Amino acid sequence: MYARKMNVPFYDLGPVNGMLEPEIMQGLHEVFTSSSYILGNRCRLFENEFAAYCGIAFCAGTGNGLDALTIALLALEIGPGDEVLVPANTFIATWIAVSRTGAKPVPVEPHPVTCNVNIHEAEKKVTTRTKAIIPVHLYGLSADMDEVLRLAAKHNLYVVEDFAQAQGAGWKEKTCGAIGHVNATSFYPGKNLGALGDAGAVTTADEKIFERINLIRNYGSPQKYQHSLIGLNSRLDELQAVALTIKLKYLQTWNNERREIAQAYSAALKAIAELTLPVEPTPARHVYHQYIIRSERRNALQKFLSEKGIGTLIHYPVPPHLQPAYANLNYKRGDFPITEQIADTCLSLPMYPGIKPEQTKHVTDCIKMFYETP
Ligand SMILES: *Cc1c(COP(=O)(O)O)cnc(C)c1O
Repeated sequence: MYARKMNVPFYDLGPVNGMLEPEIMQGLHEVFTSSSYILGNRCRLFENEFAAYCGIAFCAGTGNGLDALTIALLALEIGPGDEVLVPANTFIATWIAVSRTGAKPVPVEPHPVTCNVNIHEAEKKVTTRTKAIIPVHLYGLSADMDEVLRLAAKHNLYVVEDFAQAQGAGWKEKTCGAIGHVNATSFYPGKNLGALGDAGAVTTADEKIFERINLIRNYGSPQKYQHSLIGLNSRLDELQAVALTIKLKYLQTWNNERREIAQAYSAALKAIAELTLPVEPTPARHVYHQYIIRSERRNALQKFLSEKGIGTLIHYPVPPHLQPAYANLNYKRGDFPITEQIADTCLSLPMYPGIKPEQTKHVTDCIKMFYETP
């Protein structure tokens, strides 16, 4: 009937960056002429605006998301001998941040429907060494933060939200990034709020911890050439801060657009019995960093879509427990069956502000065609 070839890239920053080019270029030029490039007024302005957006008192910009997570854990004095509960199914940064502090990441199986932490599984992993839990709001859907906070209170754990994929997502009346004790996000260019390079941030409501975060990200230095602890160097530079401040004004609009795209996908695909579609439990506001479908015939579907000009990705094909990097933990295939099943069946469809309705329709038409062909 059709099968017109149309190119639908997995991701395209063009529509968003093109729209903002004059404003961002002017901002970048102002930084250039100011000669103030590190920890100046523009970084502070962005930190204040991002904290206000999340609805939390304090924000510190960092060099990237992995550093933000690491600094959050270090600020809580987590280190060697400690254990931290992490999702088995997450981007490996969540685990690496724990490892960098000297603590041990303890993986927890997700809920098979939401792909977020299953609190009963988490509770089974709590020991006397457990210091914190890192809920990751995977794909832009908030974890069940009522359950996370309840478990944390019961066992005296810190909660560190990894909201790298969930800027602007919500749980009840709260915004992700304002619920845990100390929280971390990434502004990697492809995130819902993306910089023009690497950037990240830590948020907290606790002023004492905020002071420690500021020390750790800047050589442990309360003032120039004084060093009260062995810190890192991980700061948000002024160029990135300018771009982020401008883009932050549009985050809500872009997230709404992502939600509309998701609705269009779900409406078109819901009749296909072989597919599992994303869910949005009532108290959550999903911001669809990724729109994930799951299918036993995932690899064949991905190949078929690729032949039709449609880009897709797998988030993530090999979970951290099966990566050579974590061979020392001695996990094997079968240890986290739900995580492995998600890795084997998930497929991320094109999802970005500015994607055209005829493009999303081409995606869903081709998926229907794949499942209707005997
Ligand atoms: C992107 C991401 C990070 C790390 O961010 P970087 O800025 O690339 O270091 C951490 N956790 C999750 C869940 C992510 O998606």
